[in-house]
Amino acid sequence: MRTYLDIAAVRIQRYLARTPTLRGRRTASAALVDMRSVAAEALAGTGAWLNAEAGEIDGVVSLELDSPDDVDRVSAVVLRALRRRLPGAEFQVVWATDLDYVTAYAEQMRPTILSGRSRVDLPTVAELPLAALCRLCGIDPAVTTATLDDAERNVCADCVERESWRSLSASRTGERRLASRLNREPVNGGFEALAGMGRRETRIAVIHADGNRIGAFFRQLANIPAERLRAPENAHLTRDKLALELSKATFEALAEATMSVRGIPGRSLPLILHVLGGDDVLVSVPADHAWQFARALLAGFNERMSRLVRGLDLEVEISAPTMSAAMVFARHDESFTTIVALAESALARGKRAGAGRSSWLCFHDLTTEGRHDEGSVVPLHELKQRQDELTELARAPRSFRENLALALADGGPEAALAHSRRVGVTAGTPFLPRRGSDPAREAEHTPAGMDGDSPTRLGLDTALRIARWW
Ligand SMILES: [Zn+2]
Repeated sequence: MRTYLDIAAVRIQRYLARTPTLRGRRTASAALVDMRSVAAEALAGTGAWLNAEAGEIDGVVSLELDSPDDVDRVSAVVLRALRRRLPGAEFQVVWATDLDYVTAYAEQMRPTILSGRSRVDLPTVAELPLAALCRLCGIDPAVTTATLDDAERNVCADCVERESWRSLSASRTGERRLASRLNREPVNGGFEALAGMGRRETRIAVIHADGNRIGAFFRQLANIPAERLRAPENAHLTRDKLALELSKATFEALAEATMSVRGIPGRSLPLILHVLGGDDVLVSVPADHAWQFARALLAGFNERMSRLVRGLDLEVEISAPTMSAAMVFARHDESFTTIVALAESALARGKRAGAGRSSWLCFHDLTTEGRHDEGSVVPLHELKQRQDELTELARAPRSFRENLALALADGGPEAALAHSRRVGVTAGTPFLPRRGSDPAREAEHTPAGMDGDSPTRLGLDTALRIARWW
């Protein structure tokens, strides 16, 4: 039996978003990546070592220990070191003793996390309850001063750490790995520069993508006897390496999606990558490249995962995990905290709505819809099926699409059809209910009815929203 101890930074997106500066977010991303090396240094002489079966997941330190008796001592040592590097982060600690990591994770660690029984390590609360709040993040009490933009400011421990970290270029953040893989440079200059790469130069989209049913997948695999996982020709795909394979599939899909963004001059990456961890991606792109990028990311991940499952050559049927994403379109100067919170809740809403199995995209356009809108959910397979029709609609003059949306809102599908006929543009017609069809079946799908196999039909209202940035 082996003992595993995972220490993970939780609510990562929110943690990254707490500083208003891109630099502060990038240094925090780097700190999440550095967690492994910080832990490795702290481990000397503790009888614990980095777990080679876990993938390189930003924000997670996975350790293996000599004995379960060492859990408390080792986690105290590691947490103390991590706390110095990420003062404002929230850490979660789980451990288990089992045959291998996949089994330990699926059978014990994940259930512990889901049931809220994991240990949590919170930032130290200031001893002076009336201390002024940090001038940068406004979240934690200011504990010291720092010179920022040539002015002396009161800041919290976390912001000081972010601002004082200078060796960013040495960190192997996901963004740096991606840049060096594609022979490009990270975006220099933040959201404004990023938005400037698109046709509509002030808009960006933030995409939060995440694997579906990863836990169930690991659990199913954990229940298969180890010898049945090893087809001789696929000896490299042992269960020990699955967590690594998952991270690799995400990275490869991300690289492929990045290459699919065309028409960006220069050597800059067409995105800012905030988080890359296991199957979790948080990334910003110019708004008019968002659909292309997100579709390529999801399709690339799905394809790699189903190839992986086929490669296992199992005698039992296991469905490969898929990826879904939430996209929030916004002005480049919109608060990142707001965007991230919206993307997070859109992703959670889609998953709650039972859209777990198939791959889908939930999108929310802050530039035209209110913050309290729910956003629209559309299955990936439908975007693929209707690709040509959507392209046709997106090519129609903007004024036509705007008037069509007005006609639809005012007089329903009949009015939209009448408008199309009057101006002689048919690009919207494929999204209107067919004559003589059952209106209930033709009605716009709801997330609850979403399933890879069920017939859904993209309605004109959603199609017009998609076409805006298609
Ligand atoms: Zn602060």
